[in-house]
Amino acid sequence: MSAPEQVQQQPSVEPPAATTTQDARAKQPKRSNKAKGCGVCSDFKTLRRKPVAEVFSKASTDAAAAMSSTSLSSKASSTFSSPSSSPYQPFPCPPDSSTLGSSTWTFLHTMAAYYPETPSPAEQLSMRNFISALTRFYPCGYCAEHLTTEVIRNPPTVQNNRALSKWFCEVHNEVNQRQGKPKFDCSKVFERWRDGAPGTDCFPDLAEA
Ligand SMILES: Cc1cc2nc3c(=O)[nH]c(=O)nc-3n(C[C@H](O)[C@H](O)[C@H](O)COP(=O)(O)OP(=O)(O)OC[C@H]3O[C@@H](n4cnc5c(N)ncnc54)[C@H](O)[C@@H]3O)c2cc1C
Repeated sequence: MSAPEQVQQQPSVEPPAATTTQDARAKQPKRSNKAKGCGVCSDFKTLRRKPVAEVFSKASTDAAAAMSSTSLSSKASSTFSSPSSSPYQPFPCPPDSSTLGSSTWTFLHTMAAYYPETPSPAEQLSMRNFISALTRFYPCGYCAEHLTTEVIRNPPTVQNNRALSKWFCEVHNEVNQRQGKPKFDCSKVFERWRDGAPGTDCFPDLAEA
C-alpha cells in the first residue's frame, strides 16, 4: 500500500543515525525510575546494572558501526545461524493483527514517552520520517490504511515527548473507538508507559543500579 501524497512529502535525506541517536539519549526526559536505572531496559539482564547513559551510548555506537560496515550481511548470517536446538522454538503461528497491534502499541507509546523533551530539528524530522514509514510498512494492511488517513487528518506533533505521547494516544483512541472500546485517558500515558502508578515500585531489581 502506498501512503497518500501528504504523508510522503518528507525530505528524502535523513541526518546520520548515530548523531541523532546520541543526541536523543543525551536529552532523555527525567523519569521517576531514573535513579534506579532504565526500566524499559530491564529485560537486558547483562546490561541492567550499567548506568543508562553507558548502555545507550554503547548501543548507538555499535549500531553506527554495523550500519557503516560493508560486511553487514555476512556478519549477520554468521551471528544468526540456526543452532540445532533453539530456545525460541516451538513457534506454531506468527502473530495475528491483535497480537501485533498490542506489541506495536507497547513499542510506540514507550518510544514516545522516552522521546526527548527538547528534540533537535533533526530528531523531529527523524520521528516524522519514522511515522511516515510506519504508514507504508505496517504489516496489517487495513490498519496501515486507517493510520494513513489519521496521519493526514491529525498530523503528528513531534515537538517533545508529551506532545508525541498525546498524539499516539489520540491515534490509538481513534482505533479503540472504531473497535467499540472505551477511550484511554491521555493524561495517564506517562503513568502507563514510563513511570508506573504512583506508589508502585515497578522495577525493584533496579533499586541499586
Ligand atoms: C498503528 C496501528 C493501527 C491499528 N489499526 C487497527 C485497525 O484499523 N483495526 C483494528 O481492528 N485493529 C487495529 N490495530 C490493532 C488494535 O489497535 C489493537 O492493538 C488490537 O485490537 C489488540 O487490542 P488489545 O485489546 O490487546 O489492546 P491494545 O489496543 O493493543 O492496547 C494495549 C494497551 O495499551 C493501552 N492503551 C489503550 N489505549 C491507549 C491509548 N489511547 N493511549 C495509550 N495507551 C493505550 C492499554 O493499557 C491497553 O491495554 C492497530 C494497531 C496499530 C499499532
